[in-house]
Amino acid sequence: LKNRDQLSILVMTGANSAVGLRSMPVKYLFLDEVDGYPLDLDEEGDPVELAIERTATFARRKVFIVSTPTIEGRSRIQAEYEDTDQRKFFVPCPHCGHMQTLEWEQVRWTDLGIPPEQAVYLCIDCEQAIENRQKTRMLPRGEWRPTAKGRPNVRGYHLSGLYRPVGWKSWGDMAVERAKAGKNPARIKSFVNKLGLTFKESGEAPPWRTLFDQREAWHPGEVQPGVLALTCGVDVQKDRLEALIVGWGRNQERWTVDRRVLVGDPAKPDVWRALDRLLVEDFRHPSGGSLSIMRMFVDIGGHFTDEVYSWAGRHQPSVVMPIMGNVRTSVPIGTPHFVERTVNGKKIKRGAQMTPVNSSMFKSRIYNLLRLEPPIVQDEPFPEGFIHIGQYDDEFFQQLTAERLVRRVNKAGFAKLEWEKERERNEVLDMLVYAGAAAMSLGIPRWEAEDWQGIEDSIRTAAPRPVATAEEAGVWRWGSL
Ligand SMILES: [Zn+2]
Repeated sequence: LKNRDQLSILVMTGANSAVGLRSMPVKYLFLDEVDGYPLDLDEEGDPVELAIERTATFARRKVFIVSTPTIEGRSRIQAEYEDTDQRKFFVPCPHCGHMQTLEWEQVRWTDLGIPPEQAVYLCIDCEQAIENRQKTRMLPRGEWRPTAKGRPNVRGYHLSGLYRPVGWKSWGDMAVERAKAGKNPARIKSFVNKLGLTFKESGEAPPWRTLFDQREAWHPGEVQPGVLALTCGVDVQKDRLEALIVGWGRNQERWTVDRRVLVGDPAKPDVWRALDRLLVEDFRHPSGGSLSIMRMFVDIGGHFTDEVYSWAGRHQPSVVMPIMGNVRTSVPIGTPHFVERTVNGKKIKRGAQMTPVNSSMFKSRIYNLLRLEPPIVQDEPFPEGFIHIGQYDDEFFQQLTAERLVRRVNKAGFAKLEWEKERERNEVLDMLVYAGAAAMSLGIPRWEAEDWQGIEDSIRTAAPRPVATAEEAGVWRWGSL
């Protein structure tokens, strides 16, 4: 859009357009909701830096960067704000006059014995209760004060949802929202972000021993009654394939149904035949029916990319999907796209389809879910998203908790979070990510009560198939391509 008058030209562009961001010199730049921008744009770099470069020719340039913050350490706006004089809005207590910033910790209800909708604010100094309606007097008497020494000519302002004027969302409304979020990490994150604060993700894995001690009584290979769908994540190693079969049920609960290690050289056909068999395997359900894998995500990383594409090419593209596991996209799963492939030394354009997966996002979520506590009383429901793990050995749990999120500052001074291996082997975590991505690509997290009911009925009424060989199931033979 170009809005031309005598004074200026307004150009609007999207953060996803490198061409748009590079197009012309800019004196006044306004970047909105920067926490939603992609990290890297068509491999041309950070869209924020690309845009700021456009202002370099103007001595009296102004750059506004605005956003609701998202995740601590991965939030651009937080990194930018930390580089400023960090202005905060101080307001006087109506009782004692003490100037203070409004902080969520001071909004109280439970410990005062009142329902959340009547939550009050306790003055940090005199500890008297301030009611939401009293903000009308406090806000006009407030002032912006710097709280840090930032770079010269750079100002930063932070205002949380607690400052909303009377008539907008009140402290009581926010307390109700917080109470509703319970212990659910996703809802707490949304609440914290709406407050105008970044959400601290648990980048520390829970101790493997804790998870080992609370493992469930069932054995790998046994399908639990709650399991109604199966996905699989496959990791390709130089002497074997590893597969984790994950079961999905209502309430976003999941089970690590089985782990298979298929020993063999991935450059040779045998190990892939074993994977053929896994793909058509019947998993007996306690209701009497059976289940098979709905979708399998196979990582192309490593030295056997072409073998993965060849194998995947022999199966239905809606069931077997080659993925790239460590992509930094702004979404958990990118759009599948065609890639070039080499077959018998010949390059084939659009030779295979590949789906990018941002493992980092899934790992944060998995570590949050692994921290959920099972119910103490029997027959009480498990928390939403609970990961059920049976009698696996200690190595399984050590691999599951093998990584840690660390904060690194790059050359440009921009802090970002990266996953770092604390143990050499981490296949279980990777496979849980891929199986989770497969489930998300099927839409399983959005399935509703009637969807689950339909699936449950179909499993119960479906008699188990006689175990089919790969050939009978219509799998192409190795070498037929
Ligand atoms: Zn006070």
